[in-house]
Amino acid sequence: MAIEQQVFFIAKCDICGAYCDEAGDVWLWDITRQLAAEQAADTPGWTEVKGGIVCPISDRKHDEARGAESPLLAAESKDAVRVSFEEAS
Ligand SMILES: [Zn+2]
Repeated sequence: MAIEQQVFFIAKCDICGAYCDEAGDVWLWDITRQLAAEQAADTPGWTEVKGGIVCPISDRKHDEARGAESPLLAAESKDAVRVSFEEAS
């Protein structure tokens, strides 16, 4: 039986380490690091950032890595302080 060893590359999220896949189903692999990274960048939901790639998960770490304001941060918590200035009459 002939056996051939093959090496392949799968991009992983730089935040959580999730493998780049298609809708949580099939890993998107390629034959070089560069091609795997490019494939991940083209995968819906995955975002290429400076020096890495971020999966579609939305939490504070992922959102910050994407450079977006986190919806979690934007939501007003019960610790939020609201200041308003009313005009004196
Ligand atoms: Zn992730």
